[in-house]
Amino acid sequence: MTTTLHTEYTVEEICKGFVYNQAEGKGLFGLSGRLIIQPEYQRHYLYAEGKGEKEIAVIESVLKGYPLGLIYFNKREDGLLEVLDGQQRITSLGRFLTHKFSIILNGTEQYYDSMPADLLQKIYDTKLTIYECEGTESEIKEWFKTINIVGIPLNDQERLNAVYSGPFVDRAKEVFSNSQNTEINKWEWYIKGNVKRQDYLHTALEWVSKGDIENYMSTHRRDDNINELEAYFNSVIDWVRSVFTQKENEMRGLLWGELYEKYHKQPYDPAQVAAKQRELYEDYYVKNKKGIYEYILGGCQDTRLLEVRCFDEPTKKAVYAQQTTEAQAEGVSNCPLCALGKDNNRTKIWKLSEMDADHVTAWSKGGATDISNCQMLCQTHNRAKGNK
Ligand SMILES: [Zn+2]
Repeated sequence: MTTTLHTEYTVEEICKGFVYNQAEGKGLFGLSGRLIIQPEYQRHYLYAEGKGEKEIAVIESVLKGYPLGLIYFNKREDGLLEVLDGQQRITSLGRFLTHKFSIILNGTEQYYDSMPADLLQKIYDTKLTIYECEGTESEIKEWFKTINIVGIPLNDQERLNAVYSGPFVDRAKEVFSNSQNTEINKWEWYIKGNVKRQDYLHTALEWVSKGDIENYMSTHRRDDNINELEAYFNSVIDWVRSVFTQKENEMRGLLWGELYEKYHKQPYDPAQVAAKQRELYEDYYVKNKKGIYEYILGGCQDTRLLEVRCFDEPTKKAVYAQQTTEAQAEGVSNCPLCALGKDNNRTKIWKLSEMDADHVTAWSKGGATDISNCQMLCQTHNRAKGNK
């Protein structure tokens, strides 16, 4: 791969013929049509998100004479240039110079065509530092994989989309990275993150590949359809929706793919599931609401998933004091289970720090977490009792 440094391009030249596509959220062309600002494997334009602070900062940097950092172009075989790194910055410049957003100058809002001519000229004349790279596709992609992108770093999925670009990624993005897709209203109950930053695509791939996304993308790279990906994704979503008819915020971002693999062959009664779910949501002692789903799927056995609240310190101390006084009077261990035994521990008086609180009637069987249902056991016996 060869690289050539260019310092002669001005902002005016780069932004000549700039086109911004509102529907797709991306800057398309520059350099009078010779520059492709967002190749297929690039991500959406993100600087306009929020209040647009990032794109405004690009213009302010130029006006202050701050360097914008290195920009990389890839020279293609057909002679056209593609932006490898710098797409967000160039799109910011292009959008400003096509009246897409304004900045505040001396306290007033100014679009490019209303700002003082000398300041506008300063933007136009600013020179950019650009490396033009030429090499084979794999060289460029390998390099793209390793460079440290300025501004918003590529996340894992964005990097994988670049490395495995092709018809499969294109089709997949049309479905899973498309914020216009109305299905997203349904999916967002179960999936965490940002459609544009590929979090939905990432989840879909994670599920179908059982966690081995890179291998899956590499295998399917040249496929011209995403049938398996879509079918698997829909199976998982439909399964969750049929088992848990009651939607809650805690469902978002759970490992539904894994839960589907583990439990989808078991039958559930959605009405019973909903009743149990409501009961656990209303239970003060359930600390981890996210754990409710796997707890129910697993037949309400593993209470560790719920992180049931423990007895508080004053309760433990009071129960310890009472148990110990009574045990000493009878000459037996203050651990009621040790007291039943035959070994040396039968008369052992444990320190408070050597004991743990235990639910006499297990929490999962309706036992309360209050002093009437608390007993102190030595740590060995408490662990042995297990399921609380
Ligand atoms: Zn004991």
